[in-house]
Amino acid sequence: MTNKVAIAEGLFTWPSDNPALLGSRCQVCGIAEFPQKLSCPACGSQDVKVEALPRRGKLWSWTIQSFMPKKPYHTDETPETFRPYGVGYIELPGAVCVESRLYENTAEKLEIGMEMELVVDTLRHDEDGNEVVCFSFKAA
Ligand SMILES: [Zn+2]
Repeated sequence: MTNKVAIAEGLFTWPSDNPALLGSRCQVCGIAEFPQKLSCPACGSQDVKVEALPRRGKLWSWTIQSFMPKKPYHTDETPETFRPYGVGYIELPGAVCVESRLYENTAEKLEIGMEMELVVDTLRHDEDGNEVVCFSFKAA
């Protein structure tokens, strides 16, 4: 079986059958951030705790990208095999707006306000043959 490695430490719970994004929440003013921060951007407090964020949210805004993603979010695609992909902001309840690659890649499949669910899937392979996994959101 291929080894699946997370694209970065601390972005989401991994390995996991039910992965969740890892944000931080200020214990003073309650503001949540993703990716997690060491201090609160709103009040400056360093009293922040890592928190697993809700796995579902609503599509806040989106676009279709028609150029290849740059490092570190690159894929196995080449300019010849590249296909446009969706990018959007997902509003997670009680939490934060998260920018994410979307599973859907055409305008017909995307609508502001639609319910979206977190998925962790293979983005590319690394030079050791591992599958590099990253988060995205797809229609729930
Ligand atoms: Zn704060």
